[in-house]
Amino acid sequence: MPNMKNKIARLVKAFVYQSGIDAMKRRLAPSSVPVIVRYHSVCSDSNLISAGIRITPEAFSEQAAYFAKYFRVITMNDLVDQIQKRKAFQKNTLVLTFDDGYTDNLEAARVLKAHGLTGLFYITAGCIESDEPFWVAEVRHLIENTGKKEMRLALPDGECRIALSNATERERAIKKMTRLFKSVNIETRENLRIFFRRELNDTPPVPKDLMLNWSQLGELVAMGMEIGGHTMTHPNLPSATKDEAQREIRECKLLLETRLKTEVRHFAYPNGGSIAHFDDKAKTLLQEAGFQSATTSKAGKPGFESDLFELRRMRATEKLSEMLWEF
Ligand SMILES: [Zn+2]
Repeated sequence: MPNMKNKIARLVKAFVYQSGIDAMKRRLAPSSVPVIVRYHSVCSDSNLISAGIRITPEAFSEQAAYFAKYFRVITMNDLVDQIQKRKAFQKNTLVLTFDDGYTDNLEAARVLKAHGLTGLFYITAGCIESDEPFWVAEVRHLIENTGKKEMRLALPDGECRIALSNATERERAIKKMTRLFKSVNIETRENLRIFFRRELNDTPPVPKDLMLNWSQLGELVAMGMEIGGHTMTHPNLPSATKDEAQREIRECKLLLETRLKTEVRHFAYPNGGSIAHFDDKAKTLLQEAGFQSATTSKAGKPGFESDLFELRRMRATEKLSEMLWEF
């Protein structure tokens, strides 16, 4: 029964969009509540990026065109300024954000620019100059590419065996490893990573062009896009020690500002899901480092009462009709 309900809901949402009812609503009864949209990758397919955080370029182009026509897309700087000064929000306001810093974001920025729109790109700065791959992608890459049917990991509470003999088991293993990497401090994560690599040592190296490089980031800046911080190595900040969290936050801001000659005022907490991905420690460290806002992965919309270091966002989805229903 819930399946049937979901199906009907999807059909209703698609009808509201395709029939023009949504467009009419945006014009006749516009919303005065802004929405911050949370994108990650914009690509057709990837063995390195989870399907849950990918939007196809075709869907993204459709979304950008619709936003240009019926919404007012502003920068995070403007939104934060409006919240601080309690200026009335203009109708149908959106802020478009992109997490992690995938290479495909450059093409997404070009699409935005072509429509006269802007976006905020939160960059995992340590992935740019370091040979260390983005750990979230490496977990997926190793498990997807190994020929081994099982792996063993030495964990503090004993040895753990993880089955890898079919697609379901591998997807389960990716979830388990990702959750494990999120739940430990950075030093432990890096130690686990060494064991993990040794265990699945029959895989090719992680492709190097997954994340934006400095020259591509320079193009984003030249297009007028905002650059935000997303730490150096994408740790789960509440799991990190205070010193680790401070280093991740400060170094990320300093590196991006120095290399890109642009101010980095906004931050997005990495990760999310079932483990807490921000806490008071992280919020204080961000303020001390000079950031002016931070967005979370929790669903919700900003308002005058919002904590600027706990701004909620709405997740982008492949189907525009599903997103519009939530705006
Ligand atoms: Zn992220």
